[in-house]
Amino acid sequence: MGELNTFPLSYKVRGQRIVIVGGGEEALNKARLAVKTTAQVVIISEQVEADFSGLGATVIARRFAESDLDGAALVFVADHGDDGRTAIAAARARNIPLNVVDVPAECDFYTPSIVERAPLTIAISSEGDAPVLARLVRSRIEAALSPRLGAIARLAGSLRGRVAARLGKAEARRFYEDLVTSPAIERAVEAGQGAEAGAALLEAHAGKDGVAGVVWLIGAGPGAEDLLTLRAQRLLQEADVIVHDQLVPQAVVDMGRRDAERISVGKAKGNHTFSQAQINTLIVRLAREGRKVARLKSGDPMIFGRAGEEVAALRKAGIDYVIVPGVTAALAAAADTATPVTLRNVSSGFVMATAHGADDGEVRHWAALAATGMTVALYMGKSIAADVALAFIRNGASGHLPVGIVTNAGRAGRTLYRGTLGELAGGAADFADGPAVIFVGEAVAHGDWAAAATLAAAEFKVA
Ligand code: SAH
Repeated sequence: MGELNTFPLSYKVRGQRIVIVGGGEEALNKARLAVKTTAQVVIISEQVEADFSGLGATVIARRFAESDLDGAALVFVADHGDDGRTAIAAARARNIPLNVVDVPAECDFYTPSIVERAPLTIAISSEGDAPVLARLVRSRIEAALSPRLGAIARLAGSLRGRVAARLGKAEARRFYEDLVTSPAIERAVEAGQGAEAGAALLEAHAGKDGVAGVVWLIGAGPGAEDLLTLRAQRLLQEADVIVHDQLVPQAVVDMGRRDAERISVGKAKGNHTFSQAQINTLIVRLAREGRKVARLKSGDPMIFGRAGEEVAALRKAGIDYVIVPGVTAALAAAADTATPVTLRNVSSGFVMATAHGADDGEVRHWAALAATGMTVALYMGKSIAADVALAFIRNGASGHLPVGIVTNAGRAGRTLYRGTLGELAGGAADFADGPAVIFVGEAVAHGDWAAAATLAAAEFKVA
């Protein structure tokens, strides 16, 4: 015995009418849904209040008549007056499925929340109990599915005959999986070249070499799961294998497909389990095996992420790759502290630089930039923060220049430090565990570091 009081099904309406009685917002909402089908949508209301123009529906501005239900597949009643009552009785007399808006007890059927990628339709129903929940689930699914999925589904349909003729059952399944998940196919469909790309993919599957893999270099953002892009999330769901750095928190790695293989390539400070050359070799090998590889990096892959070297290796090996940007640590830190890294009349620009391995010449350069008001964001500098501050001063920066440090930006356990170059150079700061961004520049004084004062005093013992 099941527990559903309704039976989910897809109901044919082609060549028939969907009749909507009522002329207000409720009727308009149902009309928007109804016009997604090929049925003729007819709206009947003596008083048409909502704007039905542009929907492609027929609006009949008069009272309801029973004959309006001729040829109707479905009836919606969104009129709480006499016409509504007449329409309800007429639909019942003719056994036409009826929905009375907002009166569940009177309904023969409910309209689920829909994610539409025609011909693919996903319907979410709570049997009328919790429409808000249904809408929430809907928006999550909406975000997880490519907007091109409908066109790709049509493409799959158009290839069915040829696939059946060329491929065995197992290979056909692999082909369809590839077709609906490949970014290359998605791009081709977008460019109106889906048919050619689909045919080429079919050839690849039919050929004895099999299918090429792909590597997606994905920016995971600073660590919070909801700071991933929708594209990153979607590709993580599609990857066969996820190769991730230590800095990417487990919760983000967990967002991948449950049965995907996960490989941690370390690279946390002081824990180099894989050399960069080994990582390059690894992702090339995995892609050559025909796998879809998500190379997950913290922040943005193009910023101190060694994406350049990995991309060079992939290009050399002739492997398809896609880069998905992410929120870089400095911007997460700027958001955490409401620091406008560029600010009219204060900071005309923003530099991201690595403190690790910087020589005096480089520091002199940044010090000069900071003196003009530019904001300098230093990565990989926490353990040498005092030395870096000293180097700035030694190379001409004022000891009064504002400094702000955000440890664990955009993730749990965030801590702030706010002081001056001189104070930091004094070496009193003792930071919490985790990666940190160091801001130097006048703009820091325009941020909201209110929490920093107490944290800095209590935790970092800054005088
Ligand atoms: N590609 C990454 C940077 C990787 S290099 C990005 O775009 O953010 C590693 C350095 O990034 C760390 O030493 C630290 O300076 C910085 N970093 C990474 N995640 C951070 C976070 N959540 N908070 C503060 N700094 C972070």
